[in-house]
Amino acid sequence: MTELAFWKKKSLKEMSEQEWESLCDGCARCCLHKLEEHDTGKIFYTNVACHLLDLKNCRCTDYVHRHQRVTQCIRIPVDGGANLHWMPSNCAYRLLAEGRDLPDWHPLVSGDPRSVHKAGISIRYMAVPKRAGMDLESHVVSGD
Ligand code: SF4
Ligand code: SF4
Repeated sequence: MTELAFWKKKSLKEMSEQEWESLCDGCARCCLHKLEEHDTGKIFYTNVACHLLDLKNCRCTDYVHRHQRVTQCIRIPVDGGANLHWMPSNCAYRLLAEGRDLPDWHPLVSGDPRSVHKAGISIRYMAVPKRAGMDLESHVVSGD
């Protein structure tokens, strides 16, 4: 009998720190600037990345101090909740909090950390760095 993967048998709250961290697929979509429509609360993603993001590796260059350095950096609640609607729909934390499973391209499922890039999910090759005076509205790429 095959043992169930940890994300199928534990809630987000029950996971160890290592399990929690391994859930991140490295897509870096959460590191794109977003705009919220005033009337509807709908969130739009731009292709403009946070200044701390390494665009090639899709990794934060100061992960430990990210919340001190960037006040808008999203804190993911362990039990789902308020902030998760700011995360992209492919985000592993959001998927599990909404009772869904991880997709085939997730590195924990594929066993390959590059699968998130190969599947075209990550922001590699599509994000641009933030420049002074940029008009974020002209960089909207999708609603989420
Ligand atoms: S969107 Fe979610 S899975 Fe993707 S990098 Fe951000 S935290 Fe990780
Ligand atoms: S501070 Fe780091 S983790 Fe937070 S949005 Fe910027 S690059 Fe992403």
